[in-house]
Formats: sequence, structure tokens, C-alpha cells
Amino acid sequence: MSQDATATSPHVMNTYGRVPIALARGQGVRVWDTQGREYLDGLSGIAVNTLGHNHPRLVAALQDQVAKLIHCSNYYHVPGQEAVARKLVELSGLSNVFFCNSGLEANEAALKLARKLGNDRGYAKPKVVVCEHAFHGRSLATLSATGNPKIHAGFFPLIEGFIRVPLNDIEGLKHAVADEEEVVAVFFEVIQGEGGIHPARAQYLRQVRALCDERDWLMMVDEVQCGMGRTGKWFAHQWTDIRPDVMALAKGLGSGVPVGAVVAGPKAAHIFQPGNHGTTFGGNPLAMRAALETIAIMEDENLLANAEKVGAHLQERLRQTLGKLEGFVEVRGQGMMIGVELDRPCGALIALAAEAGLLISVTAENVIRLLPALIMTEAEADELVDRLLPVVTQFLQQKPAA
Ligand SMILES: *Cc1c(COP(=O)(O)O)cnc(C)c1O
Repeated sequence: MSQDATATSPHVMNTYGRVPIALARGQGVRVWDTQGREYLDGLSGIAVNTLGHNHPRLVAALQDQVAKLIHCSNYYHVPGQEAVARKLVELSGLSNVFFCNSGLEANEAALKLARKLGNDRGYAKPKVVVCEHAFHGRSLATLSATGNPKIHAGFFPLIEGFIRVPLNDIEGLKHAVADEEEVVAVFFEVIQGEGGIHPARAQYLRQVRALCDERDWLMMVDEVQCGMGRTGKWFAHQWTDIRPDVMALAKGLGSGVPVGAVVAGPKAAHIFQPGNHGTTFGGNPLAMRAALETIAIMEDENLLANAEKVGAHLQERLRQTLGKLEGFVEVRGQGMMIGVELDRPCGALIALAAEAGLLISVTAENVIRLLPALIMTEAEADELVDRLLPVVTQFLQQKPAA
């Protein structure tokens, strides 16, 4: 292919700042661009390619499904939905699932559940508590729930009904709702992803759970990025003993086939009645086969244990190596969801790392984000650090702190 593959397209809307690379194929934790250059994939399509690339079992299952039935609409029963729902219920201890196609759609469904609960209670303006630095998606409701002014800019008026509080501050939350009569839910990421890899503390999760029980609110968690095994548990909140009432999933659920889900416990499972919510593509046979096979492979290959073990190893190696550099702040995260905070904006590292054969991202301006496939080995994690270290070292030397 010619170099045109990486030129800005005259026909695709200009919504992304893209690295000048076009990827052509992948194998395991490696990808190759249209020029044949190899990269170690530390991003997995933003926590999507859980199983790495070209996993033979997933490929075979998808090929089989494509030849049988890709889509049929929700006018009919889709047996795969029952199979995936049963599995998600078993893994989460929750009770019912709605299938959609993306993270924002899962969050939109969660927010509609909260609205509907409020309307059912006779509230004129139901309110949902959300967090500073949260990211929930780009639809009007989910961008309004998002705690980032850059994502709000240009889209006023926002959807109303959100009360914003700092994460990990239960007193701040209680203070913010002190004069509110129509609160219906608290909604937050168990580990903030786009916000810079900031985990909600276990104690905070328990305090929010207790408050939601006491006030009869829904505890709703956005596990679109941190769910599906990424942290070494199926769902990040399972590092504690609490269960949410509503959980949004997407990214890792279908290994790259678009699929989202909102999983609800008994307090939220029956809020939607026929006609309240729907989607044309959601839960189609291809998406369900992808999710079912992804979960089966994760179980058979012990990928949760691998994510925990290799993630801890990777974090340790990052601390040992980058930790010595002037400009390093800290390593945060859980399992294969890792942020390395520097003391200065470092978005330039994305292109520099790519030149050195490594795909990474940067969030919240100064946090290097690593989201490797859950199949990564310790040797591959070491290779990742070996590729990252010289790039960060050189960057920090050449770009002094402001
Ligand atoms: C990516 C992400 C979303 C949005 O998902 P899309 O599939 O891009 O709509 C929502 N919440 C979190 C936590 C995410 O990481």
C-alpha cells in the first residue's frame, strides 16, 4: 500500500488527532502497519482487544457465526443473548442484562434507568451524582455526565440533572446532596480511565454502597474500561465485597466486535418495561458469539490470573526503571490497567513511542496509559518496558518541566 494510508482523509470527518500509522494486521500482542513495521501493542485498541490479535479460537468462532447469521433484529429471540446474559449474571452476581453496542450506549441505558426510576417515584427532576474527571462517553447525556470541560465545550446546553462531586470523598458527596430531594443514583467509574487511571478506594465503594442502601438510590458503576478481566477480576468492583445495582460494560466484552451491556441487580432489573428502551443492532448474533467466545477463552486460558500476575510484574518493572527518572511521579492502577504519571504534559510520547515500535496512549495530559492484552507474558511486558524506557528518558531530558 502507498504512504497515502496515513494521510488525513479528505472525506472522513476530522474528529481525531491520529498518529501517522495505519495498522494492517496483528498477531498476539504485536501489530504491523501498512509499511510492514512491527509494534508491540500496549494499548489493545483502548482495552478492547482483550485476547490480543488474531486469536485462533475467536477467529474460528466468528467465521462460523458470520456464515450462519450476522444479524436478525430484536423482533426475534436471539439465543446468544440468553447465553451471554446468563454468563454475565453468573460472573457478577447481578440479575438481568440489556445489550447494546458501545460504552456510551451502556451508560446511556444506565442513565435512562435512573431517570425512569425517578419518574416512577414521581420526581419532576431526578438527579444523578457523578464525579469530577469522570468519562462516560460522547452522547449528549453521557458527555453531560462526563467531568471534563473540554468534552462539554461546544455542546451547551448540557443535559441537566447531574450533581458533580470529587471521587473518593464521601463527606463531599453527602454535603453536595444535603439539600437535594430527588437524587436517584450515584454513577462513577471504579477506576477512572480517561481521567488518568484514578481508582475509587475500596472504602469509598463501601461508603457509597451503604449510602445508596440507606437512601434507596441506585449505585451505578461504569466498568466500560476497567471491567471484563482487565484488573485481574471480572469486574473491578470485585476487588471489594460490594455489589453495584447497575454496571455498564463494553470495551473488552467482544474482543473488538462492538458490544456493550448494562447489567442490573434486583433494584434495577425491572425498571424498564416493554417499549422503554431498545436498539437495532444491540445483542445481534455476531456480537453475542464474540462475547460468549471471549468469556470462554478468558476462562479456559486463565486470563484473569495472567492479568493480575503480569500486570503486577509490569507495574513493578515500571517503578524500578521509570521511577529513577527526574519527572516521574507515580505508577497507578490494577492488573493490566496502568497509568504512569509524569510531572509534565507528555502527549508527544505517543508518536515517539510509536517510532520506537510501541503503542501507548496518554490521558489527562501527563499520564502514560498502558492497557495491554490480557494474554501478555512477563517476557513481553519486559520488552514493553525496554521499548518505553529510552523514549521516556529522552523525552524527559529534552522537554524540561514547565
Ligand atoms: C471508553 C469509555 C466510554 C465510552 O465508550 P464508547 O464505546 O467509546 O462509547 C465510557 N466510559 C468509560 C469508562 C470508557 O472508558
